[in-house]
Amino acid sequence: MSSLWRRPVTIELLRNLHDLAPDQLRATLGAIVSPPFRVKQIEEWMHGRGAGSFDVMSNIPKDVRADLAARFTLAFPHVVERTEPAPDGTQKYLFSLADGNRIESVYMPMGERTSICLSSQAGCAVGCTFCVTGFFGAGRNLMPSEMLGQFFVVRNEKQIPTESMNVVFMGMGEPLLNFENLVTTLDVLYMNIAPKRITVSTSGIIPGLQELAKLERRPNLAVSINAPDRKRREEIMPITTKYPLDELMAELRRFPLEKGRDITIEYVLLAGYNDSPADARALAKLIRGFQSKVNAIPFNEDVNLPSWMKRPSEAAIDRFVDTLVDAGVRVTVRRSKGRDIAAACGQLRGKTEAKSRATGGRIVAGRR
Ligand code: SAH
Ligand code: SF4
Repeated sequence: MSSLWRRPVTIELLRNLHDLAPDQLRATLGAIVSPPFRVKQIEEWMHGRGAGSFDVMSNIPKDVRADLAARFTLAFPHVVERTEPAPDGTQKYLFSLADGNRIESVYMPMGERTSICLSSQAGCAVGCTFCVTGFFGAGRNLMPSEMLGQFFVVRNEKQIPTESMNVVFMGMGEPLLNFENLVTTLDVLYMNIAPKRITVSTSGIIPGLQELAKLERRPNLAVSINAPDRKRREEIMPITTKYPLDELMAELRRFPLEKGRDITIEYVLLAGYNDSPADARALAKLIRGFQSKVNAIPFNEDVNLPSWMKRPSEAAIDRFVDTLVDAGVRVTVRRSKGRDIAAACGQLRGKTEAKSRATGGRIVAGRR
């Protein structure tokens, strides 16, 4: 084969302006666009309206737009699939990224409010054994343009009034392992949504929590605890050996909470494993010492996950929840699959991959 064929293809990628933090964007635009009010107009198109191209900026002169388009891009991830809306309106979006990676977001209308669940990484290296994203293994960090793109594309397509929106980082990936890009993304989201309407869910990355605690404006925090003791958490969340459960709980007790806020404790219920009344009592004890509420998530079964993992019966879920309530814990449990934010995330990619594997399509590297 000639060496020509082996030469790697390099694609000149334009810098995406949606990757810049708000102050960097202002400085970058300020150096090439004048007068200053034009910079403001462009910022409004990007951060307010979520423009995915310069073409739509109708109040910006054509030559300015052409100049910008020659230097930069505003491209967002591309929607490749939207699932049929569930009876409750929940809909998943599958996006493809410029490098071919795929990620998903979930749109969830919830009465007065609407939630969008965003992915923070294309894959996840944390490797929780009950999670489809974890099963498919590590991917890469998403850039701010790729996280903001999920938000703006879904918001604009569904024409959701910004004031009625919640955003949750509970899709694919571990947001605190993509900290810098997460912070840039949050800074832009805050221009549309109050910090208390945004939730970041983590598997308990202690250095990331410490950085989050230092931020001036913080989103809500949700922490996936999933087991009532260290031994079981190590079994289903191997990250626990790196960030031990007792150190994680100490970190949560130190975490600065704004008035009226709670830390959400996510707890995936696995039948016969962590769903007994004794487990509920152990969980109640574990989470003492800070303002919290528990979100119990009945396990969402999937062909890629260990076959012993089952969703508990409704009676077992009730018993678990009642025991928590008796122990003075506030708890929510969402039974319908579609309505559960966490259960609605992390599944679409698995199904798509499994399908392509079954039809002899793209080979997927699983971890086990
Ligand atoms: N990496 C972050 C955020 C993404 S996972 C984290 O772990 O918190 C979002 C939530 O989905 C987590 O609470 C996780 O425990 C839950 N989850 C993952 N797989 C699940 C499954 N098969 N059934 C139910 N919940 C699941
Ligand atoms: Fe990663 Fe969260 Fe899934 Fe664990 S539950 S593998 S941290 S996405």
